[in-house]
Formats: sequence, C-alpha cells, structure tokens
Amino acid sequence: MQVTIHDKAGFCWGVVRTVDIAEETLSKSEINKQNTYILGHIIHNPKEIERLENRGLKTISHKDLEDIALNDPSANIIIRAHGEPPSTYKKTEELGLSVIDATCPLVTNLQNRVRKYYELGYQIIIFGKRDHAEVIGLRGVCNDECIVIKTLDEAKQITDFGKQTVFMSQTTMDKHIFHDVKEYLDSKINNLIDLGEIDNKLIGRDTTCRAVTSREEPMLEFAKSNDVMIFVSGKDSSNGKSLYNSCLKVNPKTHFIEDISDIDLNWFAGAEKVGISGATSTPQWYMEKVKQFIESEFNN
Ligand code: SF4
Repeated sequence: MQVTIHDKAGFCWGVVRTVDIAEETLSKSEINKQNTYILGHIIHNPKEIERLENRGLKTISHKDLEDIALNDPSANIIIRAHGEPPSTYKKTEELGLSVIDATCPLVTNLQNRVRKYYELGYQIIIFGKRDHAEVIGLRGVCNDECIVIKTLDEAKQITDFGKQTVFMSQTTMDKHIFHDVKEYLDSKINNLIDLGEIDNKLIGRDTTCRAVTSREEPMLEFAKSNDVMIFVSGKDSSNGKSLYNSCLKVNPKTHFIEDISDIDLNWFAGAEKVGISGATSTPQWYMEKVKQFIESEFNN
C-alpha cells in the first residue's frame, strides 16, 4: 500500500506565524519566569493545542482576565490568529495586562475593511458563523451593526437594501457558497435599482483566504488520485469541514479523523493508494503519525 501526505497540506502561513509567536513567547517567558496565556484555543486542532500546553501555554477565556490581572500581573496574554474585538484590547489595557497580538494579518486587514465601511455608513453583510471567534471580532469593529448570514436561505431573509450595502466573508468560509450568495444579492439589488427603489449597486468583496481556497483544487486532484483519502482535522475547524466536504464529493472514500483512534481499518479494504491531507490548522507532525500508523498496519 502506498501512503502519501499531500504536499500542499500542513499549516497555512497565518497559523505558522501564530504558533511561532507562541513558541517564542514561551521561550522568553521561561527565562523571565512568567506565565503565558492564550485567549481561546490557539488553533482548532487538539493535537497542536496539547503539544503547546505541554510546553506551558495556558488556554483561558475572557472571564479569567480579571483573576490573572489580580494574581499574575506579569503574565503575557496572546491573542490568537482569529483576532479579537476592540472591547478585549480595552479590557486588557484597563487591567494593565501585557498583550502579544498574534492576529493573522489577513484578519486584521478584514477588520480594517469592516471598520472602514461601518464608518462610511454602509449596511454590512458578513458571510460567516455568528459565534466564530473571527466573526465576533468583525462584529466588534462595527459595533455589532452588521448582518451575519451563513446560507443562501438566510440571505433571502434580508429585505432592506435602503443603505449602500457591502458583502464580505469570514476568511475560512466556502468561497463557492460566498459567490452563490453574492450572485443572489447582486440580482436582488439590481432588480431594486431597475424598479427605481434604490440606486446603489452591491459592493461584494471576496475576503475568503487564498491560503484555504488555493489548496482546494490541488487537494481535489489529490483526493481523486487516491483510492482512500484520510482527512485529518480538528472537529471545530471551519476550513477543515469545508475542505473535507469538497474531497468527499470527488472521492466518496474520504474519511474525516481528528485522532488516530478514529481510524477504522475496514476503510482500507482493497486500497492500493491512500492519501492523507488536512486543514490549514493540521500539523504536519500529526499527519506523519497517521501515515506511520497506516503503514505499520498494512505494510509490515
Ligand atoms: S487561514 Fe488564512 S486567514 Fe486564517 S490564519 Fe491562515 S492565512 Fe490567516
């Protein structure tokens, strides 16, 4: 059996950057005898979380900040790649906590765009998941004055286009659905323009991340070229779910796993070629372990 890890798999550059910042902070903290905390899980991958927690990284939630300010004031607080709303920066500043900002630059850029359109008085529609950390940050920069939708059906519920409207996406959403929704909003707004009810066209900005979208095509080719495809990802990863579903469409023998123990050896019956790939938050080292496990079961 030939087992191959897709050459485009592994962390995206934004996750590499965040993990590097965390490791660098942990090394300095060790020398300075400080604690390093991170607001929310560093990435949507339990294996990498466990690795960094073993190095000393402590995952906390917002409600822990006051307690840390009181009992551990010299600690470092890392903000993860998803970013945070302005209220978090205000709170940590008021509490006198030292913040290390590891927000992905693409997310910062998107926050700046949302803020700009908000200040210009636009109606803002975001394609995303309302309670996803990145979207909480985006809602924060526009004072929660935006509409968040995650399906075409939800887009159809929007009836008021009296204001100039801008449509943007959470970075890790499915770009195909984004474009379907954009097409619907475009035609709806163009109809209203033709009827003379409004006079501004939709501004649509595809802000899905290229680090995710650019791996889809080669990953689908890879999925098709293997008899069985093992997709390794944290269950909470948005891009993991989206990429897995795309692979499943082209290769029905695609299986989602978070842990090696999720593997069912019956999946490989009759398979000669097995492919392994994952989300932008799936570490290379864990895919190597999955590969070793499959090889040890079938190639010894
Ligand atoms: S997926 Fe894109 S936006 Fe998200 S961390 Fe990676 S590079 Fe940044």
